[in-house]
Amino acid sequence: MDREMNGLRELVRISHFYGNNKEFVIAGGGNTSYKSDNKIWVKASGIPLAGIDEKGFVCMSRDLLNRISYARYSNDPVKREAEVKKDLEDARIKDHKRPSVETSLHNLFNFPYVVHTHPTVVNAMLCSKRARGKSLELFGNEILFIEYIDPGYTLFKKTEKELNNYKSIFGKEPSVIFLQNHGLIVCGNDFREISMITDNIVDKISSGFVYDIPSTTFLTADPDSEKLVSALMKFISGKNMSLVFRNNLLIQSFVEDANSFINVSKPFTPDNIVYCKSEYLFAMGKIDDIINSIRSFELRTGYYPRIIGLQRTGLISAGDSIQSAQRSLEVFQDMMKIRFLSENFGGPEFLTGKQVEFIDSWEAENYRRKF
Ligand SMILES: [Zn+2]
Repeated sequence: MDREMNGLRELVRISHFYGNNKEFVIAGGGNTSYKSDNKIWVKASGIPLAGIDEKGFVCMSRDLLNRISYARYSNDPVKREAEVKKDLEDARIKDHKRPSVETSLHNLFNFPYVVHTHPTVVNAMLCSKRARGKSLELFGNEILFIEYIDPGYTLFKKTEKELNNYKSIFGKEPSVIFLQNHGLIVCGNDFREISMITDNIVDKISSGFVYDIPSTTFLTADPDSEKLVSALMKFISGKNMSLVFRNNLLIQSFVEDANSFINVSKPFTPDNIVYCKSEYLFAMGKIDDIINSIRSFELRTGYYPRIIGLQRTGLISAGDSIQSAQRSLEVFQDMMKIRFLSENFGGPEFLTGKQVEFIDSWEAENYRRKF
């Protein structure tokens, strides 16, 4: 019992460390876990790592989770995810919280601690044209590279297969897993080990950077832009939405004209879609032109734009609350950084239309978006 308590305490420390660092985790992204004997504690869905305590983890039976590997599920992805979700919930031990969608993935690794994050520097490489080649060039067999696949059950099954393959070749488990267009998994015996491995990965990837990110120091808007933004705020607040505006050199480099905004016109990772949706609006001209662009965006996509790039002015993010608008803005700014840094690895590789469609229709991700 004492060992479990200490293990959970260490898990909380690890979770706070990465959860409070925007270069690793933004909003409710990322998840962590701890294992002891036949139990695993995995972050509950929707709880941010930053402020989590022992109660934010779901205690589950590893035996019952292992059964998901052999169970037969529907071929229809939506039905299948619902069936898997039910089995995940049945594996809980006296717990009612909803386990992370990546629970089975955590259970695959036999290390006591598993930390899954979405680091900007790592994703710059994993969302680039040279994701696989560069990963292997820098880290060789130290890492396991998993090509992009829909998150949830399919990602779990693919990782399981590749992991078994790796074990049969190298006779050990990898401590590091790279998930293309998604993020990083680091496994270890304690906090020290996890942070040493993680620092080494980030250092190695960033040491080869030729292109670096423009400054994100806030820039004040000129009087004309200020007028435009406050007119837009008035319009959007009438729609019961909250709005956040930001301007800095990084943002400026993408809102120069429609062509520069194309560079961030598609999502890189599932999390981008969860927090910013899959399409973003670039608008220019006077307030009436901008409102017209918003209206036609809404008609075309069926939703209000979360992200609006205003020509030579800055970035606006809209949400149900100030907090949710702020989260979308942070995630989108991270997309801009990833886009910028991907030039170090041959340029960006966005998610395809089909991959986006899967996330858009996935219930588990829609649940997460609520927080
Ligand atoms: Zn993830």
